[in-house]
Amino acid sequence: MAKAYLVDTSRCMACKACQVACKQWNGLPAEKIDKVESPQNPPDLSAITWTLVRMKEAVSSGKVRLLFFKDQCRHCIDPPCQMSAVIPGSIYRDEETEAVIHTKRTRYEDFEDIMCPYDIPREDPKTGRLFKCTMCIDRVKNDMLPACVQACPTGAMQFDDREEILKMARERLDKVKAIHKNASLVDADEVSVIYLLIEDAELYGMIRNPMGKTVFA
Ligand code: SF4
Ligand code: SF4
Repeated sequence: MAKAYLVDTSRCMACKACQVACKQWNGLPAEKIDKVESPQNPPDLSAITWTLVRMKEAVSSGKVRLLFFKDQCRHCIDPPCQMSAVIPGSIYRDEETEAVIHTKRTRYEDFEDIMCPYDIPREDPKTGRLFKCTMCIDRVKNDMLPACVQACPTGAMQFDDREEILKMARERLDKVKAIHKNASLVDADEVSVIYLLIEDAELYGMIRNPMGKTVFA
C-alpha cells in the first residue's frame, strides 16, 4: 500500500527531534560547523543530513513570526529524479510503499542533469554518490514508523497509507484555516510528503516553478 506523510507546520515547534532521530537511525555523523549563525542548524541538507527544519522570518498580519518547514525528499509520485537517471534501476520506486530509493549506483556524475525540483539529493564529495531520505524503508517494512515521525513530540508528523493521510490532511486543513486563513496543502497530488503550511508559500521563501511544483526560490 502506498505510504505518505503529513507534515503539519502548525504543530511544529522546531525542536529538531526529527533531525536527531534521522541521524541516529541512519548512522549519519554530525556536521562540522565552525560558527553557528542561525537557529537553522545545519544550514542546509547534505549527504549526511537528510532532513532539516528550515526556518524563515516572515511578517504576517503586521507581526514578525518564525515559520518552520521540515525539509526532506518528497517521494514524488512521478519522480523527476528517476526520469533523469541514466543508469536503469539506479533509482526506483519501492512497489510496496512507493518510496523513491536512490541506490548505491546513484552517482552525481551519471546524470546529465539531476532533475529534482525540490533540490534534495546531495553528493558525497568523496564517493560521488547521491544521498537523501529513504522513507526509513527498513523500519516501515517492519511495521515501524519512520524514525523522524516516531520522534516528533507534537504530532506535527503523521505517516500512514496515502489515502488515510490525504483524508487527514484535508480535515486538518479545515481546522487550521479557522485560525490561519492562508493555510494550504502543498503539491498534495504529486508527492508523498504533504505539507500543511500556515501562511502563503511565498512567506516560506517558496515559489511555483515552471513544472508547477512549490519549491524554495
Ligand atoms: S523518513 Fe527516515 S530517512 Fe527520511 S527524513 Fe525521516 S528519519 Fe530520515
Ligand atoms: S523530491 Fe527529488 S529526490 Fe525526492 S523523489 Fe522527488 S525528485 Fe526524487
